[in-house]
Amino acid sequence: MAISPLMPVYPRCAFAPVRGEGAYLFDAAGNRWLDFASGIAVNALGHNHPHLTRAIQDQAATLMHVSNLYGSPQQMAVAERLVALTFADTVFFTNSGAEAVECAVKTARAYHYATGNPQRYKLISFSNAFHGRTMAGISATDQEKLRKGFEPLPDWFHVVQFNDLAAAEAAIDDNTAGFLVEPIQGEGGIRAGTQEFLQGLRKLADQHGLMLVFDEVQTGVARTGTLFAYEQYGITPDIMAVAKGIGGGFPVGACLATEKAATGMVVGTHGSTYGGNPLAMAAAGAVLDIVATPEFLANVREKSDRLRAALEQMIPNHDLFDSIRGMGLMLGLKLNADSRAFVAHCRDNFGLLTVSAGENVVRVFPPLNVEESHIREFVEKLSAAAAAFEVPKAA
Ligand SMILES: *Cc1c(COP(=O)(O)O)cnc(C)c1O
Repeated sequence: MAISPLMPVYPRCAFAPVRGEGAYLFDAAGNRWLDFASGIAVNALGHNHPHLTRAIQDQAATLMHVSNLYGSPQQMAVAERLVALTFADTVFFTNSGAEAVECAVKTARAYHYATGNPQRYKLISFSNAFHGRTMAGISATDQEKLRKGFEPLPDWFHVVQFNDLAAAEAAIDDNTAGFLVEPIQGEGGIRAGTQEFLQGLRKLADQHGLMLVFDEVQTGVARTGTLFAYEQYGITPDIMAVAKGIGGGFPVGACLATEKAATGMVVGTHGSTYGGNPLAMAAAGAVLDIVATPEFLANVREKSDRLRAALEQMIPNHDLFDSIRGMGLMLGLKLNADSRAFVAHCRDNFGLLTVSAGENVVRVFPPLNVEESHIREFVEKLSAAAAAFEVPKAA
């Protein structure tokens, strides 16, 4: 048999970590990597954080799973905290980002169905978006590499240029249910929505009775220096998908909504076998204990300033580097070369983990509790890696 026992949808990678400690990962031979990828914005507190690990251990030994057919004080407690911390009035828990987006899309459509406009079924989404790998998620983007082989896809989305408010307005018709947007595109290359664009979408949604759905799966949970990125735009969405950092490494997602937006989400309209089980809630609760404090958020912003300043200082010394983008500790280093090749070079030769994104951007996603010394080590090693990198020109 030629096929790998693991369905070969990811490229093979020789690097196989077996243990993590804080900002570091170790392989079986004890070699060490500085992890500024954080499992793609998932390990918000680094690896093996004592508070998170203890919360999961204790809950696992008490009660791991019960059906959502029963009451769940663990779920209610985390939902109440998220409601208190955000624009939202109600929360549905999922196991992943794609499922959180799925619930968000269903919530937007159910609102129009329940309020007498079932013809409003289509969401306007944006070029280069990433909303997960479900059929709805890949239908919501124009990224060829995500859609190829799975078309025809349903016409539930109308994709227009990101940051183009006029195009978004022109796309509104009788079938429009709302907008689905990442405030800062992650996979697409750390492209931030402008203030005018996101505030403009809010205004259009209000004028036309549409739902504004934010996908904060990557930007959420303190990654950008505020608990959620929408706070930095002076607006609130009606519905928001969250995942990645919220479990700190344990699979948890959530769909948050206002009471009005959740009008259609009544008994029987949605569900999940695992979503919000006590173990997942223990993880999410432990993460919130730590990240949802003014001190923690201020520290993310301070570390962001240091890291950004250090990277900016380094840029003129290397032809490889073009510019820095992003917010908080969701930073992107744009290269004048293939970012995948450079990410592999840093990993294989310099013990540094980062993640590639669109537009030849290297995602720099340290743990949110990153220390000064890690930032210094990162910048030194990155500079050495750049000096040793033979630039194969970008395609
Ligand atoms: C990662 C991501 C998703 C998908 O999350 P999964 O947990 O992989 O399903 C959706 N939206 C955004 C913005 C993401 O970054």
